[in-house]
Amino acid sequence: RYLRRTMKCRSDVNSLSHHFLLIYDSLIPPDEEKTRQKQLLSLLERLVSKEWPEARLYLYGSCANSFGVCKSDIDVCLTIQDAEIDKSEFLLKLADILQADNLQNYGFHILQALTRARVPIVKLMDPTTGISCDICINNVLAVVNTKLLRDYAQIDERLKQLAYIVKHWAKSRGVNQTYRGTLSSYAYVLMCIHFLQQRRPAILPCLQEMEPTYSVTVDDIECSYFDKVEKLCDFGSRNKETISQLVWAFFNYWAYCHDYANAVISVRSGCLISKQAKYWTRRVGNDRHLICIEDPFDTKHDLGRVVDKFSIKVLREEFERAAEIMQHDPTPWITLLEPY
Ligand code: ATP
Ligand code: MG
Repeated sequence: RYLRRTMKCRSDVNSLSHHFLLIYDSLIPPDEEKTRQKQLLSLLERLVSKEWPEARLYLYGSCANSFGVCKSDIDVCLTIQDAEIDKSEFLLKLADILQADNLQNYGFHILQALTRARVPIVKLMDPTTGISCDICINNVLAVVNTKLLRDYAQIDERLKQLAYIVKHWAKSRGVNQTYRGTLSSYAYVLMCIHFLQQRRPAILPCLQEMEPTYSVTVDDIECSYFDKVEKLCDFGSRNKETISQLVWAFFNYWAYCHDYANAVISVRSGCLISKQAKYWTRRVGNDRHLICIEDPFDTKHDLGRVVDKFSIKVLREEFERAAEIMQHDPTPWITLLEPY
């Protein structure tokens, strides 16, 4: 069995919140950035609809899920009703069109076409604003999980505060790189949601366990949950924990309390579930399940599957470093976020 280590929170923890909130405020994108992103989307819509009038564009990822820091890239999903479509070929044609002179007499700069990736994308840059944008095709599940995250973010502001700090920490410490075996921003936000569902009293509900008010079926997966979140804005009010207490408790949980050998975090069910129940106890191919984070809709998908035996060590050492800093460091808001 795993060893549960309980640490008592430092006595001055609440006085640290002010510093964490200043960092949070500094990361929030200004309104002009949002406006520029929308303008870029409209321009793309006009260009795409000339060639494919039935195509639709949706923002997804951090530019639409409320967890985007300033100067982030934007993620765009193009949907087109053609089951036979070859995504790679389509993306290369799209890149050609967007690169050519367009309505404003300049072309987008194509930075990269990742046509063999699990989710094929083209990366392009708008030369006037410098905004980079990743476009993928028919990745509707990502549009739906973006809405789920956005809906959770509206329930209690502490989710946004915690997730911004955790994402910023992960980027500063180099543990936000799936190609190197660490976790995606999406996985970190799910870890924050799950953590706040588990606080007592709970700060977040489990929307997928409530009476559904929103339901769509995507790639044979039924995605349904309670999305009238404006009715839940008092949900977490019985819990008075501050952002610094939560940052402390988050890292303490992942450093010393999580049962890596047996537990799966599940935002879908609002609790921990067992690896055994999901048959995630054995390595299959490259999926090792060393830290298990269930996707809320695509429940066969473990967002921790990118983590290998080397990167799990790096991750756990970083969680421990963060927990120790939150426990003892005189200026944790600085030391925690120091580049690695
Ligand atoms: P960042 O600010 O770092 O760009 P992000 O929210 O855009 O953060 P990403 O990890 O780049 O996060 O993911 C973009 C979106 O793609 C997510 O919001 C999610 O909808 C989807 N996504 C990312 N990884 C996965 C995955 N492994 N499975 C399913 N959907 C994913
Ligand atoms: Mg992104």
